[in-house]
Amino acid sequence: MLVPRIFQPLHLRLVRAILTPCKQQCEMWGSLRWKHSGIQHYKAVIFDMGGVLLPSPYKVAAEWETWNRVPAGTIKQAIISGGENNAWMSYMRGELSAADFIEAFGKQCSEIAGWPVPVASFLTDLTSGLMTKQLPMMTDAIHCIRDEGLQTAVLSNNFYLHSGESFLPLDRSQFDVVSNKMVEHGVSFPLMTATVIPESDIRERKRESAFLNTLQNNAQVFRCLLFSLQKVSDPAIALKELETLLGFPLQGSVPGTRTVRKAMEIPVEPLKKFLGKVLGISTSEELILRQFSHGQSNPTYYIETGGHKVVLRKKPPGKLLPSAHAVEREYRVLKALGEVGVPVPKVLALCEDSSIIGTSFYLMEYCPGRIYKDPSLPGLDPSQRGDIYTAMNHTLSQIHSVNIKTVGLEDYGKYGNYVQRQVQIWTKQYKATETHTISAMERLIEWLPQHLPTEEKTTLVHGDYRLDNLIFHPEKPEVLAVLDWELSTFGDPISDLAYNCLAHYLPPDFPILRGMNKCNLEELGIPSAEEYFTLYCQNMGIQTIKNWNFYMAFSFFKVAAILQGVYKRSLIGQASSANAEGTGKLAERIADLAWDFAIKEGFRIFKSFPTSNLGMPTRTYSTWTRRLQLPTGPPASVCTTRDYSTSSHLPKGLLIVSPDGLSSHVKDLYHKLEKFMNVHIYPNEQKLRDYQASKNRWTPNPLVEELKERAKLEGLWNLFLPLEADPEIKYGAGLSNLEYAHLCELMGRSLNAPEIFNCSAPDTGNVEVLVRYGTGEQKEQWLKPLLDGKIRSCFAMTEPKVASSDATNIEASITEDGDSYILNAHKWWTTGALDPRCKLCVFMGKTNPDAPQHKQQSMVLVPMDAPGIKIVRPLGVYGFEDPPGGHGELIFENVRVPKKNILLGPGRGFEIAQGRLGPGRIHHCMRLIGYAERSLELMKKRVKSRVAFGKPLAEQGSILMDVANSRIEIEQARLLVLKAAHLMDTIGNKAAAPEIAMIKLVAPNVASRVIDRAVQAFGAAGLCSDYPLAEFFGWARSLRLADGPDEVHRTAVAKMELKR
Ligand SMILES: Cc1cc2nc3c(=O)[nH]c(=O)nc-3n(C[C@H](O)[C@H](O)[C@H](O)COP(=O)(O)OP(=O)(O)OC[C@H]3O[C@@H](n4cnc5c(N)ncnc54)[C@H](O)[C@@H]3O)c2cc1C
Repeated sequence: MLVPRIFQPLHLRLVRAILTPCKQQCEMWGSLRWKHSGIQHYKAVIFDMGGVLLPSPYKVAAEWETWNRVPAGTIKQAIISGGENNAWMSYMRGELSAADFIEAFGKQCSEIAGWPVPVASFLTDLTSGLMTKQLPMMTDAIHCIRDEGLQTAVLSNNFYLHSGESFLPLDRSQFDVVSNKMVEHGVSFPLMTATVIPESDIRERKRESAFLNTLQNNAQVFRCLLFSLQKVSDPAIALKELETLLGFPLQGSVPGTRTVRKAMEIPVEPLKKFLGKVLGISTSEELILRQFSHGQSNPTYYIETGGHKVVLRKKPPGKLLPSAHAVEREYRVLKALGEVGVPVPKVLALCEDSSIIGTSFYLMEYCPGRIYKDPSLPGLDPSQRGDIYTAMNHTLSQIHSVNIKTVGLEDYGKYGNYVQRQVQIWTKQYKATETHTISAMERLIEWLPQHLPTEEKTTLVHGDYRLDNLIFHPEKPEVLAVLDWELSTFGDPISDLAYNCLAHYLPPDFPILRGMNKCNLEELGIPSAEEYFTLYCQNMGIQTIKNWNFYMAFSFFKVAAILQGVYKRSLIGQASSANAEGTGKLAERIADLAWDFAIKEGFRIFKSFPTSNLGMPTRTYSTWTRRLQLPTGPPASVCTTRDYSTSSHLPKGLLIVSPDGLSSHVKDLYHKLEKFMNVHIYPNEQKLRDYQASKNRWTPNPLVEELKERAKLEGLWNLFLPLEADPEIKYGAGLSNLEYAHLCELMGRSLNAPEIFNCSAPDTGNVEVLVRYGTGEQKEQWLKPLLDGKIRSCFAMTEPKVASSDATNIEASITEDGDSYILNAHKWWTTGALDPRCKLCVFMGKTNPDAPQHKQQSMVLVPMDAPGIKIVRPLGVYGFEDPPGGHGELIFENVRVPKKNILLGPGRGFEIAQGRLGPGRIHHCMRLIGYAERSLELMKKRVKSRVAFGKPLAEQGSILMDVANSRIEIEQARLLVLKAAHLMDTIGNKAAAPEIAMIKLVAPNVASRVIDRAVQAFGAAGLCSDYPLAEFFGWARSLRLADGPDEVHRTAVAKMELKR
């Protein structure tokens, strides 16, 4: 049968709160040197409040009855009679106010006594005087119980006083659980007697808690809960019985000590003799011997004899490594430090004769004071807490300031490389106890040796400097003694400081070392870790500790290695697998914490790379560096005259390689454009990309239309049309190719930008054709709406059936029929053809297949709504359909257009193509520099913020190479773009042909490589549509074909070069 539901909360709370932590802690503490060991049969003692911890109410009642001439036993009877709902029980449950209780209980007593009984004064007696003082013998017993590692709980009966306050006159810190049996659970104990666990089960299971209670009828329920019961009539007798039950004395507690564990017993008679000599006392003096729970690595004992209180510290019994547990060293360091005023216990004698108590030992004075186990210092006020931390800090700096030579400790340890040695030691230790791969540990093992401190100081170090290794003055914030010097040696003082700050980063519920990482330190008055180490620096007169995070990583690494050892031992030992697993998880948690610090340190190192602190001005592009040095005018270093090997023509004007070299008008335009990109384009990119993936993608995006209007209003419109094509600045912004190159690069940084400024292909090329070759009527019909951004256009040259890189192969037929031309063709890769706004197609086909090769082709303007045009399908670039324009496969079947729609005349298609593809193609190159620059920018941001294998990606060698190569290639490509543009402006498109061919080859190749490196650095994210990289890549790659294949350009360059 199960425990009834009504009892479960209390049962679970007590059993969980009392038993579970105790079990875990005992096992861990058993293996760690931080805490005592020893698994008790009993885990907890539970006390009833009234009649056990506080005097019995019946005793008060008896006295009160005598004093008030009330028949003896009246109160007791009133308490007992009436069952659960009588006045007493209701009051105990907090259901009655004090006034109501007095009235109801008085009535009950009056009925029992047979005359009026006013009980107000009884309640006063019950809640004042001795009734509010815990019995001293109980206080002593509680200390003894807790010192043995058992936990304590109190079952109180909280009723409310006249003042409304709950009556609980106990020091709560003595109890792990304070459970209000009446108020919290709404049920009094007698009711719980219904609890049943089969007797057979009870007999088989060990009782782990003892319960001192006053009510006999709780017996059954607590037996069922595996509690040993003690009915308390006389507290002194009850404690004696409890002593027998628990097996240790319940009086004479000394803070931090417990009875000597069996395995740690020492022969008392020889010890007495030794003490007699050292202390000058008789060997017949009684000797109290207790063991300190703390510092179990070297067993430590409390001795009281002949009026002396001393502490004995010895090596553990059994076979030991020669250097381990060297109490002689401890004695030596304590003696030396005591002489120079470092607060340590005063040593009295060293005994290296192991025949006395079995091992070497030393004696020191007992130092009474406060030891704080909880770093958050509960019970103190903020200023006291601050003072305690200040004192701890001061003492640490005192230790680190000790002059090793003066105190005669020159040979106490090795000089230098402490951290390196420690990393090796703990790595070895960890590897020896490794049970499974902890990835953070693996990374740390690699990372720590690579990041060792370069400047290491050597001082005396404590090695285990923690708050609970310090004894403080009972009243003042003063360190009286630093304990546990077993790990002291020469070492790096900062490692002591970092170790001292572990608690700052650990959670308060961390099972072994209590932490305070979630605590409001400011409110508590405790310095933060940063403040603490700053104070240390002040105390030590040092500047700062730059690699603080390294030391924290190292300290936690050490702790993780220790915990892994504990885990391994717990697997070998008897610990239950569940608990062992828990310890294993702790090691992982700490390793992760250590790794977090390693990451922080990685970032610190990275940020300290000398990038901007070499006296260099900050910059965006390396070729633009000089813009900051040159406040006015385009200086020689920015604008150069040319003597270019690739051109036989001398150019006019200057090559402007930086936007700051542009004229003020163009510079303004540039900055306006830059601002527009920042405000309206980049923030909307994801929205625009999302739209292109939505089901509406084949219809124009209203956001694009909105942004187009805005751009038009700001004058950022039709910037592309070159001055040489539009000298009167009738249609465009009147920019030269070179000027536009700077602006076009900026637009190229976002794939969505060119359309918004009405500067996107294929419209730009078609507009230029119309401006150059269109008739007035054609301009009116097509150019105007195109320039207004009202319609879009496409260019149909490429055919699936022929190698279209060689335009002479084009087979489309344009035949005359009266006033019309009849068009028949199968075209594909006609960019923009699917856009519902696409109203014009510039069509290329043969008007005369018998004419000389370059006179066969003509260009005709075809309205997209002409009958016979069929869109077969959109073609995707690596899956990107580029909607709403797309790249269409089209069939032209007997499409009739008026003859006046021919451009320039029959057979002049090549001539136009030359003109069209000059500036248009270099626009792509300009934009490609923008793709590359943006990709590099995104890559840099990413690699600075992402960590792999112990350091930011930016610290990885291959990434550094990739960044460098990208920058170098972009710089080269940009200069060539600018040069080509400049030559087009100055010597004309024809003469600039070598540069145009070169850049058409270089730009998409460079951009492809730069983008590809960025994609690689981004990892898989680089391939998806969360970033523009994937689409950039698609475009850059396709532009190695779309603008003519690389090979064609290369061949052209070679031919021109050979002709020179
Ligand atoms: C995204 C995109 C958009 C496009 N937009 C348009 C558009 O709007 N309108 C339009 O008409 N076309 C457009 N095109 C088509 C583009 O212009 C052609 O793909 C290009 O001209 C190459 O023609 P082709 O595909 O027929 O390749 P082919 O001519 O078949 O060439 C195939 C390969 O042969 C090799 N090759 C060719 N010539 C030489 C040589 N001289 N030496 C050595 N090797 C050589 C190259 O490796 C070349 O890549 C677009 C293409 C893409 C990818």
